[in-house]
Amino acid sequence: MGFEPRPELQEQLDRIRRFVDDELLPLEPKLLAEGFVACLPDLEEKRRKVREAGLWAPWLSADHGGMGMPLMDFAYVSEVLGRTPIGHYAFHSQAPDVGNMELLLHAGSDEQKERFLAPLVRGEVRSCFAMTEPEHAGSNPVWMSTVARADGDDYVIDGHKWFTTSADGASFAIVMAVTDPEGEPHARASQILVPCDAPGFEIVRNISVMGHPGGGWASHSEVRLTGVRVPQANRLGPEGSGFMLAQTRLGPGRIHHCMRWIGICERAFELMCRRATSREIAPGKSLGTRQIVQAWIAESRAEIDSARLMVLHTAEQIDRHGTFAAKNEISLIKFHVAGVLQRVVDRALQVHGALGMTDDTLLAFWYREERAARIYDGPDEVHKISVAKRILRQFGG
Ligand SMILES: Cc1cc2nc3c(=O)[nH]c(=O)nc-3n(C[C@H](O)[C@H](O)[C@H](O)COP(=O)(O)OP(=O)(O)OC[C@H]3O[C@@H](n4cnc5c(N)ncnc54)[C@H](O)[C@@H]3O)c2cc1C
Repeated sequence: MGFEPRPELQEQLDRIRRFVDDELLPLEPKLLAEGFVACLPDLEEKRRKVREAGLWAPWLSADHGGMGMPLMDFAYVSEVLGRTPIGHYAFHSQAPDVGNMELLLHAGSDEQKERFLAPLVRGEVRSCFAMTEPEHAGSNPVWMSTVARADGDDYVIDGHKWFTTSADGASFAIVMAVTDPEGEPHARASQILVPCDAPGFEIVRNISVMGHPGGGWASHSEVRLTGVRVPQANRLGPEGSGFMLAQTRLGPGRIHHCMRWIGICERAFELMCRRATSREIAPGKSLGTRQIVQAWIAESRAEIDSARLMVLHTAEQIDRHGTFAAKNEISLIKFHVAGVLQRVVDRALQVHGALGMTDDTLLAFWYREERAARIYDGPDEVHKISVAKRILRQFGG
């Protein structure tokens, strides 16, 4: 596997890295002290500069105003943007909007693209994806209560969702709802575009996550839909294609997440090494002189490097053979890199001692916010089970 970026990609990565370091890192103290919403005016200014620099939405095709990078190239960019919690947002590459734009590009009608995709691509509005319900196990998503009942040319939707990331301030939601209760489990649901100002669409609360309800893009909401009426023309793809479309959305999304996590690991690793060399535990004796800290540094380096190779290999497989053919690799990186992330951030925090628990560095923020990496987009256990079953099948299991 040769994964050295080409010279022209390396030049773009250097430009993006300079922008991240010079323009975004200085905003982090405000982000940690006052939250995402307080940083929005500054961030909008940075987004304007990103656009002017021709670095807008690197993953998006040039016809739609992006840089037209293949998945493999964007994987490298995602690592650079992951160095800061606001990197993906500043470059219009943030979840859940990217996944929703990909869905609309893939399955949207001309009318849906005009009304929902165009303003989203331009960065004028935000969106969210509402599938998980508090009453049902999200790891078995075919089991849900949200129903879209056909009524003339419309659907009338009733349901209860939660952990709808970025619903606060979103202009529309893609809602997963049962459209054929009698159908086969994987053909019961459809994805439907629902404007968030439609009567009956209610954000009940921003859910407090480890003590922080967040706000705007950086939040997760509980949402109730009560008799929400939308035209059937708002359905994405054929009736019953909801789960099939969800799979299409998740493959590349997992590459984006995993490389973002590797960006976080690299930043945490830098912080750990700086602290190990600067903190003296006795006069003239730095923390880095202790073998246990040296072992954490070596183990972290090995884990980050091997995780990156696995993700790049998976991105290459998706680019060459498609998401379906790479499903094992996608599951492997999803749980493996989430584990590396958790261990590297934990070691870096430990090396900082009490300072690691404060918001004077980003470590506590990542420790809190990124614990969810092992849960969303499929919990670790579900991915491990899927891979193991496929492997065992080759042995007659
Ligand atoms: C920060 C965050 C953001 C999210 N954003 C979104 C979003 O934007 N839109 C959306 O729709 N959803 C979102 N989710 C929800 C997410 O997709 C679900 O939390 C996830 O699918 C797991 O579902 P659950 O929470 O109901 O856990 P459950 O399904 O109840 O599972 C609980 C635990 O049981 C274990 N488990 C589950 N199944 C198995 C099994 N088969 N075998 C063994 N063990 C198992 C796992 O350890 C799992 O963590 C988000 C969640 C988080 C935490």
